[in-house]
Amino acid sequence: MDDLEFKQTVLDTKSASFCGAKWYNATVWLGSGMTTSCHHPLPHKIDPIEVQSNPKLLHNTPEKKAQRAQMCAGERPSGCEYCWKIEDMGPEYVSDRIYKSKIYSEELLNDGFRTSNANDQSDFNLRTLEISFDRTCNFACSYCNPAFSTTWVKDIKNNGSYTDLVSDGRNHFTHVHAENQLFGLNEYNPYIEAFFKWWESDLHLTLQELRITGGEPIMSPELWRLFEWFKENVDKSQTKLAINSNLGGKPELIDRLVEARTHLPSLDVYTSCESTGIQAEYIRDGLNFNAWWDNICKLHEANIDTHCMMTVNALCLPTLPDLIFKILEARQTVGKDFAVFSLNILRFPSFQSCLVLPQNVKDTCAGRLKHILLWDLHEFERGQVTRLIEYLHTVEKPHNEAFEMPKLHNDFKQFYQQYDVRRNKNFETTFPELKDWFNTL
Ligand code: SF4
Repeated sequence: MDDLEFKQTVLDTKSASFCGAKWYNATVWLGSGMTTSCHHPLPHKIDPIEVQSNPKLLHNTPEKKAQRAQMCAGERPSGCEYCWKIEDMGPEYVSDRIYKSKIYSEELLNDGFRTSNANDQSDFNLRTLEISFDRTCNFACSYCNPAFSTTWVKDIKNNGSYTDLVSDGRNHFTHVHAENQLFGLNEYNPYIEAFFKWWESDLHLTLQELRITGGEPIMSPELWRLFEWFKENVDKSQTKLAINSNLGGKPELIDRLVEARTHLPSLDVYTSCESTGIQAEYIRDGLNFNAWWDNICKLHEANIDTHCMMTVNALCLPTLPDLIFKILEARQTVGKDFAVFSLNILRFPSFQSCLVLPQNVKDTCAGRLKHILLWDLHEFERGQVTRLIEYLHTVEKPHNEAFEMPKLHNDFKQFYQQYDVRRNKNFETTFPELKDWFNTL
């Protein structure tokens, strides 16, 4: 069934705003006790007391129940504005509401609708979940911030706020975001205990996919606690596991991951990198590019499905095509499923968007990307490369609310000058292709 037919026959017959993600999908940050139904609505708080007696409140919060009721009545929860904007462009436009509902069976969707439409406040068991145990991370990538990395927290604690940034509306680089980590690593955390309580009762039976993000998950004791559960409960759960890892952990942690795979039903590792050599190490502060490459090869050999998430930012354009070529060449020996890549176009912080670059830099990258289309790619990858070429040629603004270009250029220069001093780096020698332009800013 195609997407529009699915919308008309499965979703519209329930209501004009029904979305399966509100019932069966969640992202939960256990370090801060926040949740959301998909990555578009802003996160909201989970009650730390109530969740101890009912761990299903990690997902089934009063807010989500009220939004389910709205959706059953055909009303639009305001937090889902991203989808409504797309749908208001015309009946032929397909929003994430359709993609995020289509992954569930009709039986499940019907059950969710029938129950909540009858004003029944029952809790639902998740089918797809993304969790973060904590924000411990050994990297401090330039486009990340202290909300997701303890190494970024150290930068701000040791050196103070980044100054003179005028377009950073979310103040990513000015404070340590203490609210994102409410508990110390050895402290009792009611959210983590609730997760394991729910997992051990029945979540392990219904959850189809569990993706663990961070921080850096392999540095979290809770990841190993979960893997230990699988070791002690062989064949009890068929949940597909995935982790987002920077693959820059100590060798013994990488080995531990390889060993853990033997007890898990499946394991996908999503790692991030979007350029090569010293440019990659500049962008992703903490990375050793060669060690990262060796680790992704090692995981592939160990029957772990590897994926490379490329965050397309201003600094990666000179060597982004080189990384893709490197992956494609390796695939000739190790197989086509090695490091399946996605190209995620960075929009925030907007001064790090690739759109701040002069057109000739974007055109050079787009020209090199066209050669990649001649290779044997996964269809999904081909679509991503084609979209990026188009984006580099035609799009001028990172997003609707982005500041005008002079302000983004101001912040680009301000930020990287301070980043160089704090991180002992050198923009001009690392990016000779951008040096002349940088000096005009
Ligand atoms: S309607 Fe859109 S924004 Fe809201 S939960 Fe569904 S996919 Fe997410």
